[in-house]
Amino acid sequence: MTNILVTGGAGYIGSHACKALAAAGYTPITFDNLVTGWQDAVKFGPFEQGDLLDRAALDQVFAAYQPEAVMHFAALSQVGESMVHPGKYWRNNVVGSLTLIEAAVAAGCNRFVFSSTCATYGDQDNVLLDENCPQDPINAYGASKRAIEDILANYAESDGLESVIFRYFNVAGADPDGDVGEFHQPETHLIPLMLDAIDGKRDALTIFGTDYDTPDGTCIRDYVHICDLVDAHVLGIKWLEEGKGNQIFNLGTGTGFSVREVIDASANVTNRVVPVAEGGRRPGDCTKLVSGSERASRDLGWQPSRSDMKTMIADAWRWHQSGHYDR
Ligand code: UDP
Repeated sequence: MTNILVTGGAGYIGSHACKALAAAGYTPITFDNLVTGWQDAVKFGPFEQGDLLDRAALDQVFAAYQPEAVMHFAALSQVGESMVHPGKYWRNNVVGSLTLIEAAVAAGCNRFVFSSTCATYGDQDNVLLDENCPQDPINAYGASKRAIEDILANYAESDGLESVIFRYFNVAGADPDGDVGEFHQPETHLIPLMLDAIDGKRDALTIFGTDYDTPDGTCIRDYVHICDLVDAHVLGIKWLEEGKGNQIFNLGTGTGFSVREVIDASANVTNRVVPVAEGGRRPGDCTKLVSGSERASRDLGWQPSRSDMKTMIADAWRWHQSGHYDR
């Protein structure tokens, strides 16, 4: 079996990626410091607790497992927090990733799949975003991810590191089998917070800003199902195995939903009322982030099958009601 080192494998996206890798015949080795991840989400391969800033721990894991590739998810990912504590984002995300890249190169592991973000594009006046759009992040989270993309490009030149970079739009939903799902502590994301409000775990969902330049005044995002997203990562590994080299892919569906539209869809799917409060803008939020790229489907053969809003909310709701959520 081929080993893949999965940093952040105990988190929301990483745990789903481990399941997809195992289903595709790989052994995912989770490396996670459990700061935002959960050990009980590591179900599909070995677990090594460690921090990206700990080079010795990384060297040990590379030596022990000889992974064919790295799938790098471990990161802090809250836009709002990144505006208040940028240093945490630069240290953890950028210095941590640099340490990981150096360890990978030193171990002779030169295949790298990286989770980047549409937040690297920033606010771009209503255009649909493709991979050639200039990157101009407006928050420290996006800036930290862009910096890591630059580091990967430098190491491609200097050491022949080959990377597939995925720029995610908004990831949603949960494993339909219920093996893994979304759980952040504290939760900051729209859909899980809304489900909390629907079943009374919080008083209301606060809409962050109703005065954006969009048809209903709320921010627009492009939502993609977690299972579709991680399927692209398995295709990314195969892309590198086939020697196709460095590439960047947006992962979004090309359809934008405003916050109010997501609220309406959730009310329909759950058949419940969503208690809503209107609040001010959250610093760092872009007005609209929607993918305008077909590169992933055209070149990678990516075919999202669960990324319609109804299915994403239904899967998230099933996970939410399963009790796993009440850790
Ligand atoms: N949002 C909101 N209320 C919340 C959380 C999020 O109105 O309690 C909005 C947020 O401003 C953004 C969208 O929902 O426009 C998606 O935010 P999320 O934090 O889920 O993902 P992000 O786009 O920051 O990656």
